[in-house]
Amino acid sequence: MSDDTRPWEGIFPHRDHDHLRCVTDAMADAARLCRARGARLTTLRTRVLEIVWQNHKPMGAYDILAVLAAEGRSAAPPTVYRALEFLLEQGLVHRLSSLNAVVGCSRPGHAGCGQFLICRSCGNAAELNDSAVERAITRSAASQGFAVQAHSVEISGVCPDCR
Ligand SMILES: [Zn+2]
Ligand SMILES: [Zn+2]
Ligand SMILES: [Zn+2]
Repeated sequence: MSDDTRPWEGIFPHRDHDHLRCVTDAMADAARLCRARGARLTTLRTRVLEIVWQNHKPMGAYDILAVLAAEGRSAAPPTVYRALEFLLEQGLVHRLSSLNAVVGCSRPGHAGCGQFLICRSCGNAAELNDSAVERAITRSAASQGFAVQAHSVEISGVCPDCR
């Protein structure tokens, strides 16, 4: 599943990209991954993931609840939070602390994680996941006697389409 030899090229979705393809791929990846892990992708978990994948903008729990409510689903907030926790644990979505929101992972199952580019103009976010950055953080922290277990770097700027 994770293939570190493949370069992360063109990670930012272009304005006219085929987003239906993103959604189809994401849902197929999620189904495959959960089946392989014996994790249950319930109807609600599937729907929450689809909602997160509406676009490439990070989404907060309240936005997700609002969409579900508009669909006439009376999902209680804790149920939705648990569905989100499941998606986070499975690596199907990632949490962006600076926005208190989640974004769909375009390559679930990948090794390493934690660098995101967030466009302050259109709001889209993309995963950078540069292993050189990861190594630099680990090395720098180690020089302070610190053992890195996870890192999260959220970089704000302007995406190719918005520049
Ligand atoms: Zn897309
Ligand atoms: Zn990811
Ligand atoms: Zn942008």
